[in-house]
Amino acid sequence: MTEACNEQTVSLKADDHDTASLADPARDHGPVVGLEAVLANKEARVKRQRDWLKRHGMPLVSFSVNMPGPEKMTGISKQIFKQGVQAIEAACKELGWTIAGEQILLQETGPEGIFAIDARSAMMLKKQMITIERSHPLGRLMDLDVLDESGKIISRKGQQMPRRKCLICDEDAVVCARSRKHPLDELILRIKEIVNDEQCCR
Ligand SMILES: [Zn+2]
Repeated sequence: MTEACNEQTVSLKADDHDTASLADPARDHGPVVGLEAVLANKEARVKRQRDWLKRHGMPLVSFSVNMPGPEKMTGISKQIFKQGVQAIEAACKELGWTIAGEQILLQETGPEGIFAIDARSAMMLKKQMITIERSHPLGRLMDLDVLDESGKIISRKGQQMPRRKCLICDEDAVVCARSRKHPLDELILRIKEIVNDEQCCR
C-alpha cells in the first residue's frame, strides 16, 4: 500500500459491478475482511493523520463509511463515500475554505478519505461536518471525524450535539452497536434501503 500523497489517483466512477450491485442490492458484495485487517487499517489511519498534521498544520477531516459487518468495500459503500466526498468539497467551496490536501483510499477495509482543510477553525469545520451528517440523505451512513491542528478529535459532545441515533430503533447508536441489539442482516438491509431510496428520489 502506498502512502504517498498521490491525491485523487483513484477513480470513484462506478464500474459495471457497482452498477449491477446497486440495481440488485442482494448481489452487492465485497471482500470479507477480518478484525486484524480492520485494526491494522486503524493504526495506519492514525499514522497517516499524524503525517498530515505535520505536513499541513491545519485541521483534518477523516472520512469513512459507517458499514457494519465484514464486507466494507461494496457498491453501496462506494456510493455513500462518493456522495460524502462531493458534500465535503461543496461545503468547503461554499465557505471559501481551501482544501490543501485530499487523498482517497479504496481498500478492502472500506473507502476512506483524508482532507486537510484551511477552515476558520476546527470547531467550525466540525459543525459543517455535523451538518452533512444530519442533513445529507446519506449523512447517517457517513463518519466525518475532525481533528484539530494538534491532532485532538473534536467530539459531537463538545459541540453540544446529541449523539447519533441508531438506524433502526432511534436509540443511541453506540448503545445498540455495543449490545449488538440488531442482527447484521437487518442493519445492512436498512442501509441498502436508505441508499436505494436516495437513488430513486434524486
Ligand atoms: Zn437500535
